[in-house]
Amino acid sequence: MTNDYDVIVIGSGIGGLVTATQLAAKGVKVLVLERYLIPGGSAGYFEREGYRFDVGASMIFGFGKKGTTNLLTRALDAVDVNLETIADPVQIHYHLPDGLDLKVHRDYEKFLDELIAYFPHEAQGIRKFYDECWKVFNCLNAMELLSLEEPRYLMRVFFQHPMKCLGLVKYLPQNAGDVARRYIKDPQLLKLIDMECYCWSVVKADETPMINAGMVFSDRHYGGINYPKGGVGQIAQKLVEGLLKNRGEIQYKARVTQIIIENGKAIGVELANGKQYYAKRIVSNSTRWDTFEKLLSPEKMPPKEKRWQKRYQKSPSFLSLHLGVKAEVLPPTTECHHILLEDWDNMESEQGTIFVSIPTLLDPSLAPEGHHIIHTFTPSWIDYWKELSPKEYEEKKEMAANRLINRLEKIFPGLINGLDYQEVGTPRTHRRFLGRSDGTYGPIPRYKLPGLLTMPFNQTAISGLYCVGDSTFPGQGLNAVAFSGFACGHRIAVDLGR
Ligand SMILES: Cc1cc2nc3c(=O)[nH]c(=O)nc-3n(C[C@H](O)[C@H](O)[C@H](O)COP(=O)(O)OP(=O)(O)OC[C@H]3O[C@@H](n4cnc5c(N)ncnc54)[C@H](O)[C@@H]3O)c2cc1C
Repeated sequence: MTNDYDVIVIGSGIGGLVTATQLAAKGVKVLVLERYLIPGGSAGYFEREGYRFDVGASMIFGFGKKGTTNLLTRALDAVDVNLETIADPVQIHYHLPDGLDLKVHRDYEKFLDELIAYFPHEAQGIRKFYDECWKVFNCLNAMELLSLEEPRYLMRVFFQHPMKCLGLVKYLPQNAGDVARRYIKDPQLLKLIDMECYCWSVVKADETPMINAGMVFSDRHYGGINYPKGGVGQIAQKLVEGLLKNRGEIQYKARVTQIIIENGKAIGVELANGKQYYAKRIVSNSTRWDTFEKLLSPEKMPPKEKRWQKRYQKSPSFLSLHLGVKAEVLPPTTECHHILLEDWDNMESEQGTIFVSIPTLLDPSLAPEGHHIIHTFTPSWIDYWKELSPKEYEEKKEMAANRLINRLEKIFPGLINGLDYQEVGTPRTHRRFLGRSDGTYGPIPRYKLPGLLTMPFNQTAISGLYCVGDSTFPGQGLNAVAFSGFACGHRIAVDLGR
């Protein structure tokens, strides 16, 4: 057996690609193996009848121009590629129960003014809570974000920024809900804070780590939300361009079925076509469940992974409705991203909260002239879609799509008459095309955990095997998995003596 490569990365999600490009930029010989036809995973795209739809993500953090938390900008820069982005003036337009109709403006003070107008009696508490989020963000945004598993790096940042590091250590075991309740008493406002967390962490504030909340609630006003011109799929396309420029390799339609272990060490992979490749280090961008239950023997799961599975469970997947609509159904002041919920009790229910993105408001080139894309998705569990005949499955999809469209009519009256194209994806679709166990969005705590303290970094219990992506620190979201990619690339480079 000879090592064909220094590093093999299984999967070309943003986590996998950032790892691969970081290493390739250092002269490491990297091969990325992707089971699908294009890169990107949940940040991929598909085209139908003149529309270019984002598969999942479209509210993009990490494209800021300053600070250190703009990890997508930095990842592209590292391999000498760039991407034009379009600034979004509003992160989310909330349409919530009891007439709570609120926009999260890019301008921090404008957002606070609008929120305080709804809850004037909580003016102080609101400011204190969000200001505390800034404290977390300012600590993160002062230092280079690399592997927390690398002692020399930790020493270096500690000596450069001792107070900021101590600040972060303080917040590491905390959750956003604890901090919010320290300052805020109004139950309805606390529900809004729950939704502020839920809409990206898919758990309420009590289970959402304060580090992640600090990042999201501040960076949206600092680096802002910026949409990549040409669609979200461009991020992965550009990273691949950078990978190739730096002599990295990528193969598509290359499904890894097994991680080869010899004497307890990961040394290679086997593909569905029987081909084997060997490398000094193996990285899995597959979810932890797929990695340790499918690519490795579940009977030999390391105790550390078993402990992780006791703490974290799979979040729901999504029911996605990709619509092409006539432009006139959207009022001229429509924002790009919306959250719709009619009853607080349904926030976490099957098909409860509705997420909407209309990327063509920022980049009209994604749809035929005079048309918009409305990507609507709502949490849904795989069990809801199990044991159906093909006919029952189609009927259930149709009914679910109609229910969603009827609910959307509340914010876009007349939508039904403006429909031009419609495609429905279910958790089964996510499982099939994204290769994610049960189509899950990623891990969520089974019970209240101490913030991010229990989220694993990139090294695993198996020598030579690393994980990257949303089932590693710090979790879901493109900028978060980019962080994981920077950290993984850094740790491996050090291990390889680069
Ligand atoms: C509907 C939806 C909306 C979202 N909205 C947002 C948003 O607005 N903003 C945001 O920041 N984030 C959003 N996210 C989350 C974000 O997209 C993900 O957290 C992130 O893209 C995950 O990246 P990853 O690198 O962990 O892995 P993935 O994107 O899951 O990529 C893994 C890759 O590995 C490949 N792979 C898996 N197994 C194998 C194998 N055995 N062999 C070869 N290849 C394999 C897969 O095909 C895939 O390409 C959204 C996600 C979804 C589903």
